[in-house]
Amino acid sequence: MSESTLTSPATVSSFEVRPSSSPRTVTERAAVLADLRFGTAFTDHMARAVWTVDEGWHDRRVEAYGPLQMDPAAAVLHYAQEVFEGLKAYAHPDGSVWSFRPEANAARFARSAERLALPVLPEQDFLDSLRTLVHTDVEWVPTTPGSSLYLRPFMFASEAFLGVRAANRVDYLVIASPVGPYFAKGLKPVAIWVSRDYKRAAPGGTGAAKCGGNYAASLRPQAEAAAKGFDQILFTDASDTYVEELGGMNVVVVGKDGVASTPRLSGSILEGVTRSSILTLLTERGLEVRERDIPVAELIDGVRSGEVAEVFACGTAAVVSPIGRLAGEGFDLEVGGGEAGPVTEWVHRTLTDIQYGRAEDSHGWLTRLV
Ligand SMILES: *Cc1c(COP(=O)(O)O)cnc(C)c1O
Repeated sequence: MSESTLTSPATVSSFEVRPSSSPRTVTERAAVLADLRFGTAFTDHMARAVWTVDEGWHDRRVEAYGPLQMDPAAAVLHYAQEVFEGLKAYAHPDGSVWSFRPEANAARFARSAERLALPVLPEQDFLDSLRTLVHTDVEWVPTTPGSSLYLRPFMFASEAFLGVRAANRVDYLVIASPVGPYFAKGLKPVAIWVSRDYKRAAPGGTGAAKCGGNYAASLRPQAEAAAKGFDQILFTDASDTYVEELGGMNVVVVGKDGVASTPRLSGSILEGVTRSSILTLLTERGLEVRERDIPVAELIDGVRSGEVAEVFACGTAAVVSPIGRLAGEGFDLEVGGGEAGPVTEWVHRTLTDIQYGRAEDSHGWLTRLV
């Protein structure tokens, strides 16, 4: 297990803690933690900071979780100037709490902000906000196997102004939600619909930024696929030639020949922290990893012929999701016998063993929060 280099987060953080005057009781909290779903329950506090053109970042604090007061003219409500992040805090057997590569999330948050003309939050503030919030709400970090505290940092234009320009006032918040295991009993393969009529992103657009607008655009295709009985959509690129990613997860294709391929970072796909970690692990396992343009036709032919042994999606929430069925206009194919394959299983086990402190963190991927 890695060694903690951290002094008490509460004393080093730039975020001032103002404890909630009405936190949930031990019994109320226990009831929430006994029945975890994704993203429905939140802890007693939230982290917050404000940015203005004149003052820069200020008012860093952790305060009671609760509704925001917002002007109806707040720019985010009209022009969607917003970015977010998603990562988890994991309880280890010794009671310490860790997050996985939060510096990578801080860096991506900064890149997303730049694309959306939002101010960059310094990495130290990003990490301090996570540490101070998790320290304050540490009783909310679930300890049942496979559970974690999901952290959602986000930033939005709060200036009351209907003119179209980058806002002069921005709010940054972090909220935290205890979540159970994504797969309660073993990896469950998902059915994917390949979308050809709808695009998630295009060259020069916002596909590489983690912004709410990308998600808004994916809801309609997602709903249409769900109505056909599919779990998720696989988006193709703007020219409809290459595989890109799912609505919120990257995709990896494992060939019978031991080559793992994933779409290269073309500028219109999201650079997943899970994706990059998995590529490292696969290389160490001895697979040849190729970041490249994957033609949709090649993927379909490969699944049909059996050249493609496994396909999985990856992201923070599920870690990996095996893809057991791939369908679209004119084809409907089973992938890898409809089961999670050995590489997919290995990746899931290896990554979660590191995250939960069951295996050595030889890459230095874990950062201690509490
Ligand atoms: C967040 C996200 C991912 C996965 O990123 P991780 O850092 O692995 O969680 C993939 N695609 C999109 C569109 C995303 O928003």
